[in-house]
Amino acid sequence: MGHTLSVIVRADVDQNEIRIAVEGCVTDQSQTALHAILRRARQLDPRAPVVLDLQNTRHCDESAVALLRMTIDDIDPFHRQVRILSPDPMPACPMLVGADAGEAS
Ligand SMILES: [Zn+2]
Repeated sequence: MGHTLSVIVRADVDQNEIRIAVEGCVTDQSQTALHAILRRARQLDPRAPVVLDLQNTRHCDESAVALLRMTIDDIDPFHRQVRILSPDPMPACPMLVGADAGEAS
């Protein structure tokens, strides 16, 4: 397993938003680490919008983003304050390029 995730949380006082910048690989497994971070970001300032920025990830699984959306449904049912910036197109893991991932979804 070489998928690693790194996260930088920045509370921008001027813009009044909390930005969670994610780098590395976002997989079904690694995205669970983001749940606690999202919840904590909400508690930091319940009125501040939270942006989960996945645009600089090296690798982002669509299924992982779907799981994150479900978590946000739970934290912020109307998606008023928590939003995801997802990469377009979704980057595939460089480690898996050329190798058969054995998954067709
Ligand atoms: Zn990866």
